[in-house]
Amino acid sequence: MVEPDGGTGATGELALAEQIMNIMEQGILVWTADGVCELHNTRIFDVLELRGDDLTIGTTRAEFRDRAVARGEMSAEDREVSAAHIKAHQPYSFDRHLPSGRVVLTNARPARGGGYVVTFTDVTRERTAARELTRAKREAEAAQKKSQEVLDQERARQVLARQLSELDEWLQSCKSLDELYKIVTRFMERLLPGSQGELYLYSNSRDGLVGTCNWNTTDLHHHIAADSCWSLRRGRAYEFSAEGLCFLCDHVADHGHEVAVTEYLCVPIVAHGDTVGLLHIRFGSGPGTAADLTTHGDLALRCAEHIAMAIANVKLRDELHDQSIRDPLTGLYNRRYLMEALRREIGFADGGGAGFGLISLDADKFKSFNDNHGHDAGVMVLRGICEQLFTTFDPSAICCRMGGEEFAVCLPGKDLDQAEAAAEAMRQNIAVLQIRTAYTTLPKVTVSAGVAAYAGGFGASPNSLLKCADDALYRAKDGGRNRVYRAECGAPDPQG
Ligand code: GH3
Ligand code: MG
Ligand code: MG
Repeated sequence: MVEPDGGTGATGELALAEQIMNIMEQGILVWTADGVCELHNTRIFDVLELRGDDLTIGTTRAEFRDRAVARGEMSAEDREVSAAHIKAHQPYSFDRHLPSGRVVLTNARPARGGGYVVTFTDVTRERTAARELTRAKREAEAAQKKSQEVLDQERARQVLARQLSELDEWLQSCKSLDELYKIVTRFMERLLPGSQGELYLYSNSRDGLVGTCNWNTTDLHHHIAADSCWSLRRGRAYEFSAEGLCFLCDHVADHGHEVAVTEYLCVPIVAHGDTVGLLHIRFGSGPGTAADLTTHGDLALRCAEHIAMAIANVKLRDELHDQSIRDPLTGLYNRRYLMEALRREIGFADGGGAGFGLISLDADKFKSFNDNHGHDAGVMVLRGICEQLFTTFDPSAICCRMGGEEFAVCLPGKDLDQAEAAAEAMRQNIAVLQIRTAYTTLPKVTVSAGVAAYAGGFGASPNSLLKCADDALYRAKDGGRNRVYRAECGAPDPQG
């Protein structure tokens, strides 16, 4: 500080200058060209939190700075930069961070004669506000990025949900497993782009799995063993990644995929608690946007669930349909199915297609056989007759059990002569049939048969044709049994 000397012009000006300096908010300091303090105001002590002996007239800039550095107010970098500016007699400024947390802007301007006038302004509030503004901006950006991500995820989820529900809708409306395989192929290509895969289902005998359909690949095992897949052995989805501690399933190794496969997923197809098959998906072989295990693993699992439900539904429908058209004792078709088949064949023949033969047959004296040998023996004979029907007729024949010991066989494409010959072969095969029980060999059973045929042209009914064959059958019974008679009716009554 400069002491006023009571009235000379120069000291009067100095006193005025000091008064002005002291009422200012900022701390002010004037360095001589040699870096010695020649003037400062009193405010500087408050602004820089200095004690009285920290700064006096005559304090050097080096002392002043060393103290600031020692208190951690000034970084080594600021010190170097400002020293360079002083050397070049350039203005400089930097923030001092006081131990109390306050920030003081140091602003130095070169003065005439090589000195410097330095102002010290408390900018704590401005700096805090700027910092908070920056933080708020960063937080707002992060929040916006996050909400965009959530929006993108939601959109992607909606797309997937739509695709999955579309898959589900198609799967639920498919009538047969063949249709289901086509749907699986098309949807898996779309839902898991660039992936390759196959669907295997347990064979009816459950001794292995049969390849049913595939996508983006020509690979498809005809048959794989259940123990060749880790997922089936462990009863849950199995993720293989070449980078993890994993072992290749035998069914994958068998295909020579060891080198190419980096990631795959095997999912047991479980329907109503029953494992019915296996979905195998290989990732990482497609280009660009190909699905991978991390991003599409969950989706693959959900696909497997939907496919499992659909397979269960189709199988259940098949079973119910089968039950409604088959005789449970022999596995042959029932009367209802024969009537449907006859209606179909009549329509075909009436439309110009080939006609068909129809055999009605009945076991001879079966009541007394049952009475003599028991009901169980009778059942064995009925099953034996059923087997003979299968061995005698070709696979196009529709063999039915009409009830009791009565059977009927529709022979598509056969005329009356051919049907009669086939019935005669059948009669002979049954007549020599020997059935053994655990204790004995049962006596041979014979059958009588009546044969009719329809070549189309007059709109016959199934009942009228059946009656024709039955009439011939009754005549065969009357004629002595164990024989085949041809029908005598020419053009049965269409209403019959
Ligand atoms: P016919 O040579 O005139 O046909 O004499 P039949 O004794 O075979 O004729 P009938 O219609 O009088 O008797 C049919 C017998 O077939 C009655 C029953 O004992 C037997 N039967 C019918 N359905 C079954 C069946 O599901 N199981 C067994 N074990 N026997 C049956
Ligand atoms: Mg009988
Ligand atoms: Mg009978």
